[in-house]
Amino acid sequence: MKKLFEQLIIKDVDFIKDQGINFPDIIVEQGHISEFPKKRDFAMSIYNGKYEPVVLRYSPRLLEQDFGTIIGILRHEFGHIWFFGHGNVKTHTEVQADKKAEELFGTPIFYNKDYIQTIYPTKYSIRPHHLPK
Ligand SMILES: [Zn+2]
Repeated sequence: MKKLFEQLIIKDVDFIKDQGINFPDIIVEQGHISEFPKKRDFAMSIYNGKYEPVVLRYSPRLLEQDFGTIIGILRHEFGHIWFFGHGNVKTHTEVQADKKAEELFGTPIFYNKDYIQTIYPTKYSIRPHHLPK
């Protein structure tokens, strides 16, 4: 699973870079379960400065999700990372990260029954309002 997971990330990042889009380099690392205390916490992207790679740290629980959810969560993070690469580290929103992911990959982000991003179609195509903005 982990090998496939890494290939998914490389494929998506290559897809972005192949379009000539300015996108930061990323270091992907598995974090400790304790760093992801909430049920919906699966990944975080950490900005380390303009000339440093972004660290994309994921929960071991991410690997237990279905394919669509793993991709949905990663693409949401890529949305955040795009903003990091364009000088907007702190002020962009969660909704904007979803929208940027949709724009980068040309496919919608949905929310599953646990209110988590997925690329598999569901009836929730807009970020549920009770989630952090
Ligand atoms: Zn987010």
